[in-house]
Amino acid sequence: WDRFVHTVIKDSSNVTFADINELNERTRPLLQRLTNENFFKIFRLNLYKECPFWSNSEGFCMHKSCAVDTIDDWKDLPDIWQPEALGKIETISKEPPSTNGSCIATGAKVGKDYCEVDEVNDETVYVNLVDNPERFTGYGGDQSFQIWRSIYNENCFNLGAEQCFEKNFFYRLVSGMHSSISTHLSNEHLNFQTKEYEPNLKQFMIRVGDFPDRIENLYMNYILVLKALIKLEQSGVLDELAFCDDGNFQSKEKELKSELHEMVRLYYRLGDSHECLFNENTLFQNDDAGQLKDEFRQRFINVSRVMDCVQCDRCRLWGKLQTTGYGTALKILFELDQRDRLSTDFQISKIELIALVNTFDRLSKSIASINNFKKMYDAALRQE
Ligand code: FAD
Repeated sequence: WDRFVHTVIKDSSNVTFADINELNERTRPLLQRLTNENFFKIFRLNLYKECPFWSNSEGFCMHKSCAVDTIDDWKDLPDIWQPEALGKIETISKEPPSTNGSCIATGAKVGKDYCEVDEVNDETVYVNLVDNPERFTGYGGDQSFQIWRSIYNENCFNLGAEQCFEKNFFYRLVSGMHSSISTHLSNEHLNFQTKEYEPNLKQFMIRVGDFPDRIENLYMNYILVLKALIKLEQSGVLDELAFCDDGNFQSKEKELKSELHEMVRLYYRLGDSHECLFNENTLFQNDDAGQLKDEFRQRFINVSRVMDCVQCDRCRLWGKLQTTGYGTALKILFELDQRDRLSTDFQISKIELIALVNTFDRLSKSIASINNFKKMYDAALRQE
């Protein structure tokens, strides 16, 4: 843990893994409180969009026969433990839930985007994230493999060799997202004997733990999203964003903003290091920077569109939320010019803010889980 969090970004990150672990422990309660607030826990999306890249009817199923290989006794289990049921979403609402003393985001998207945000239309649904935790669903086999493959295939830029830097960054970003998803499903893995969800060390090791680069990529994503939150806070954009459409909830809005300020400012304890946690200014600096940035943006938009091909609803929900969260972080890092704040038309929507905060929470929970898995691993070694 004493090693520095090396990123692909030059001059970035003179903080160690131990620094991040310690600060994450300190900020976790605040982040948990925030993500349990009505404003942050209700996510709006379209779950019924067609897959834009291939036909979902072409042999890709969400059934025990194409589920993860690690579970070989699916057939002995009742329907409620089958992947179709595990991947379901509890209570999908067509209307924004009753605000009940708080406020809910309903506004539309704005600005130059790095991800596809669903438009509000007849198919829009509202889902409570707290009631639908990201965990093991049994989704797997050829179909999820195809999705991950097409995500990694987006990392295939057309420009010359000098864009290796950006290409490497793109790869690490999606790999870090993959690591986080794998960590959650290992941390809340179904124990088929007790029917309880619990940490499964073996699953964690084969998916993430045995690959130090996958862990590093997850930490890189943590500092990337954190830097975006810091930039949002320092630029004043956060203060300008109207959370609640209903003026009756102004005090709630103030409270949420002040909690967000408080959480972000805890990271200032890193001293000057928080400034260079992640130095986005070293990316897209070559002569062809504009073109490369556009291609990068388009490719990440494609990653977000692939989420409409995910056949397991709960995986689709969290996949869409996280690609929106990363897309928003990239937009803040690469499009928000703090020096020229007044003349830019930079804006983020409420749904993007919700996705950003929840994506940070996903990464924060992954880091807490990784530390727990490390303890389990050490204990298992001592027993041998
Ligand atoms: P996969 O995780 O499918 O990986 C495929 C290949 O990618 C691996 O063989 C390896 O070569 C490579 N790889 C794996 N991890 C990394 C990494 N971090 N960096 C670089 N390369 C890597 N399942 C759930 O139970 N719950 C969920 O919430 C869930 N959400 C999902 C969301 C999305 C968007 C997708 C595409 C899948 C989701 N899944 C979920 C399925 C899950 O991610 C796995 O695909 C599934 O469990 C099968 O795992 P696997 O062992 O075959 O390897």
